[in-house]
Amino acid sequence: MTFSSLAQAPVPVFDGHNDVLLHLWQSGDTRGARFFEGRAGHIDLGRCRAGAMTGGFFAVWVPGRPEDDPPADAPDPLYPPLGPDRARRITLEIAAILLRMAADRPDALRICRTASEIAEAEAAGALAAVLHIEGCEGVGPDLEEIEILHAAGLRSIGPVWSRDNIFGHGVPFRHGITPDTGPGLTEAGRRLVDLCNERRIILDLSHMNEAGFWDVARQSTLPLVATHSNVHAICPATRNLTARQLRAIAESGGVVGLNYAVQFLRPDGRRDSATDPDVLVRHLAALVEALGEGGVALGSDFDGALIPDAIGSAAGVGVVISAMRRAGFGETLIRRICRDNWIDLIARICG
Ligand code: ZN
Repeated sequence: MTFSSLAQAPVPVFDGHNDVLLHLWQSGDTRGARFFEGRAGHIDLGRCRAGAMTGGFFAVWVPGRPEDDPPADAPDPLYPPLGPDRARRITLEIAAILLRMAADRPDALRICRTASEIAEAEAAGALAAVLHIEGCEGVGPDLEEIEILHAAGLRSIGPVWSRDNIFGHGVPFRHGITPDTGPGLTEAGRRLVDLCNERRIILDLSHMNEAGFWDVARQSTLPLVATHSNVHAICPATRNLTARQLRAIAESGGVVGLNYAVQFLRPDGRRDSATDPDVLVRHLAALVEALGEGGVALGSDFDGALIPDAIGSAAGVGVVISAMRRAGFGETLIRRICRDNWIDLIARICG
């Protein structure tokens, strides 16, 4: 193989965050048939294969009741807390979709618990799915649901989404202020951190406010992780990470996955999908500078965000890779960002 054909070989992509399970649940697709057969949206099996995506974190996220939540296009929406019984039921319903998908189609998708299970799935041509919970509203204060879901494959948890729950305070969506928006972890939240440390479950800080972030940083013995967040110095959204937070993540040996949501990329925070993909590389370069080459990865937010038209879907991640090459990123660094850094982090935390 010549050097030029090596450079052109598809770069495998392992992604830090997608919300396809929510959409399958909302459409009543309890076995994920639309994922395997093709669907409207950012991500399905065909689009993953077209974009050389070998796997990623599949989020379980519980929507609010339509009558309680602000409209999706509201500027700076504020989301009220969820009722626990409904949240528990929906958490299990959405997690069950991924479990059925893996049971029905092991040739196409597997739930992976370790880095070596990911490598085996990739070698077999099956998508390697890491089961992730984004917001633990479906979990009670004694954490039984975590024990059960851990046995079912759960390896990553965001204790809060951008709303309050019994574990802590999610960061509200705002532009032009820091993530320091309220109090930190509750007593139950501290117990959740301890259990994640014991069971070696990744703690995702992407939707946590700053006080909660520092509470986890003080208490957790695991590397600090934000699966889908960007650089606050470039785009001052509350969902992005300040220089001090990035230093703490670097010191812990943690990883940040780049979020493709345009309002967390653009310095002006505008929801404009005609956003130049070069802004992604500005964030990636700043993340590499802050975290080193081993601390940066991708966290698209496919099916959960408005992303640049130029990327479009999981089939379009080559646009990000081309932008990295234009900016002078080497092939080894590109491979680490696109896949290897997530796998290395999972190996260090989950085995
Ligand atoms: Zn999210």
